[in-house]
Parts: sequence; C-alpha cells; structure tokens
Amino acid sequence: MTMEQQNGAAAQAGRQGAAGEPRGKTMLVRHADVLVTMDGARRELSDAGLYIEDNRIVAVGPTAELPQTADEVLDLRGHLVIPGLVNTHHHMYQSLTRAIPAAQDAELFGWLTSLYRVWANLTPEMIEVSTLTAMAELLLSGCTTSSDHLYIYPNGSRLDDSIAAARRIGMRFHASRGSMSVGQKDGGLPPDAVVEREADILKDTQRLIETYHDDGRYAMLRVVVAPCSPFSVSRELMRESAALARQYGVSLHTHLAENVSDIAYSREKFGMTPAEYAEDLGWVGRDVWHAHCVQLDEPGIALFARTGTGVAHCPCSNMRLASGIAPVRKMRLAGVPVGLGVDGSASNDGAQMVAEVRQALLLQRVGFGPDAMTAREALEIATLGGATVLNRDDIGALAPGMAADFAAFDLRQPLFAGALHDPVAALVFCAPSQVAYSVIGGKVVVREGRLTTLDLGPVIERHNRLAKVLFEAAR
Ligand SMILES: [Zn+2]
Repeated sequence: MTMEQQNGAAAQAGRQGAAGEPRGKTMLVRHADVLVTMDGARRELSDAGLYIEDNRIVAVGPTAELPQTADEVLDLRGHLVIPGLVNTHHHMYQSLTRAIPAAQDAELFGWLTSLYRVWANLTPEMIEVSTLTAMAELLLSGCTTSSDHLYIYPNGSRLDDSIAAARRIGMRFHASRGSMSVGQKDGGLPPDAVVEREADILKDTQRLIETYHDDGRYAMLRVVVAPCSPFSVSRELMRESAALARQYGVSLHTHLAENVSDIAYSREKFGMTPAEYAEDLGWVGRDVWHAHCVQLDEPGIALFARTGTGVAHCPCSNMRLASGIAPVRKMRLAGVPVGLGVDGSASNDGAQMVAEVRQALLLQRVGFGPDAMTAREALEIATLGGATVLNRDDIGALAPGMAADFAAFDLRQPLFAGALHDPVAALVFCAPSQVAYSVIGGKVVVREGRLTTLDLGPVIERHNRLAKVLFEAAR
C-alpha cells in the first residue's frame, strides 16, 4: 500500500466515529525529534507527535502510542515541534515604513512625530497588503496567533481591511480597534488631521464587535477595544471604551509607561503615574493588557499582579527607541502575566518571532544578570504567556483539547549545528530560524518553508510599490 492509499483508507475509517457520527479531517504528526508541550508538567517528548481532529488536538505522546494513520500524515523526524508562538503587540501597517531616515535615530515622541505625517497618507489597499506581508513574516517565524493594533484610519481605511487579510492568509487573529482623538490643538501628540471624533470611534468599535467578534473556543478572530495611548485619547474615551468592552466581554489593549517622557506626560496631565491612571480608568483586570510597561514602578507591578493585568513585552522596540529594559523578571516573580510582542515594524524593524524570543532572553540578562531568564522561560512567555495575556486557554500548549496550532523547525540547518544535545535551548540561543511547518487550527499554512495560502512574491512586490508611494508623498 502506498502512503496515499494508506491515508485514503484511514480517511474512510476515520469518517465514522464509535457511535457512527461523522468525524472531521484527521492529521497525524509523528517522529518529531523533540516535541515541547508547555503542558502543566512542561513535558518535552522524544520521537513524539500529535493526533489532530479538525481544528483541535486529540492526543499528544510518543509516536508509538499514537494512532498509526490519518487523513494527512506529517513525518517530522529531524524537527523540533513547539506550540505556535503568540504575538501580543504589533502595528502591521508599519511594515510600509521601516527604516524611514527621519525616524531612524529618535526616541518615542520624536519618532512618532516624524511618522504621523507619513501614515496620514495610508489607504485601505495599503492596510490590506501590509497586513498580509506582516502576517507572512510572523507565520514563517513560528507565530500562529497575532494581535494587531491599528489606530490610524485615514482615507477610508477600516479594521475590516486587516481582518480580510487575516482570513485570506489563515492566521488566528486578535484585531484591535485602536483610535486617536486628542490632536495637537488639544494638547495631544498626533496632528489634528489624523484624529477621529470619539462618538465615531465608539460607534465603529461596536459595529466591529457585532460583525466579527467570536467568543467561542478555537475562535480564529476576536475584536479588541484599543485606544492608542494616554497621550492621544481623552480620559472619557478610555472610560467609555472599558464600559463598551465589558458590555460585550471583549479585551482591552493600549500602550502604557513606555519611557520616561511617557511618565512625565502622565504626571503633568493627569497628576498620576501611568499605573494609577490605568486603575482610575478601570483599565486593570484579566481582560486588559498593556504594551511595553518598561517604566512600570513597584506599586504598578503589584497592582498588575493583584488584578491579573497583562503586559506585552517588546524587547527589540524598547532597544530601538532606547526606552529602557522592562523589569520582566520582577513582573513574573510578582505574578504579572507577560507575553511577547514584536511591536510595529517602524520600531523593530522586523517581525521575526523567534528573534524576539532570543532578544527577550538577552535583554533581561543585560539588565538583571545571567540567570534573569532561561531559554525555556523565554519560550514559555512567547507561548503560554501570550495566551494568558490575550485571555485564552485554548492556545499556547500542545495538549488534548487545545487548538491544533504548532510550528516545526528543521534541526538539520547549519545554524543549529553543534547544539543538538539540547534542541529546545538551541532554538532560542542560536541564530533565529524560519519554520519548516506552521499549522493553525489543523491547517498547514507553511509547508517545507513556503506559505500554502498565498503567492507571496506578488504581494511583496505590491507592498514595496505602495511603500514607495507613501514615502514619496511625505518628502
Ligand atoms: Zn506599539
């Protein structure tokens, strides 16, 4: 019997369950050199695999203990398998404005001021194409779930443009409806031309939740309420956003305590630290996560731990903008949920998730010593940590009942040579690897290093043409 015939026979057998009810498509992953489960016991299994039905995992274990066939069989000898990485902070449209000369060497506020006028010319087509490019980059680096924080909507752009891209490429997506409402004439940072009316923001956010938000287990799409930052929206919008989010049971996201100027702005405008301001607005709880928190003070860390408020740690961006080193070790010891984020591509300027895991480890060590973060802890932050921050318990680990989201890395690449005594540590310590396979909800989205859902060449060509238009328009 050939492999196809075997698979076909299994498909016939598999379509009838024990009680005769129809079953979904099955997938068998077998012979992975090492499989990282991130389950309760943090098991790492040798010569192991997964048995998947439809979009969820049914069994995890040594190859010998799994079913022998399925509709689709992936033989992953020579590979390391991990739960799909979770990206908790991004601005995908910024993939169009990487390494812009005027913004290359500035800190946060100067960097933003240089870029707002470039972003003012964004179009719906640019949002869609840049989201595809950004997601391709994430998928090829092991990320299977991403949030995106879109907070600028010029020229008819809508969050629907990002959502359409996510559906096309097949990524699990938390689409954040960002916003800016306080322009320069009202003491905010953004130019008046790129801010929206608060009533319009709330109305559109409600429309998006009602149209797209899926609160079910294994949801591929969730909507998040996400005013941009304390220095670009009013207190009222922050409060009303929290009320709207809680009315629908969706999560809240914003930027907080990013650098020392951010702290100074908060003290001057609100007479409070960012953490005090967040608490005052009702922006704490398991349904809230804040990006950066580089300058979160001790009482802030205690508040976040007490309330289960999450943090999206973005090490590359923090280094790029010289914002400082987030006290991740201290946060985790206190019990703050911490996930990992690549942040927007204008302040990273990459969205390679394995590279971000590595930088998280390296940066904590620069700040707090060689035992500040282990390779396995960095991986845990990027998987389980991200899932907790996004308020999900169906992703981030490979265990029965979890979503079938995983990434496989080929351990036979030169960049891993000499490190195979510990392939799990090798993934974090060695140079960042691209994936061989990415599977999301039981669907193979990357196979042998290539996207299956999209012809990437023409997308990148279009992306670069639009990036040039945007760059030229602002010169
Ligand atoms: Zn950001």
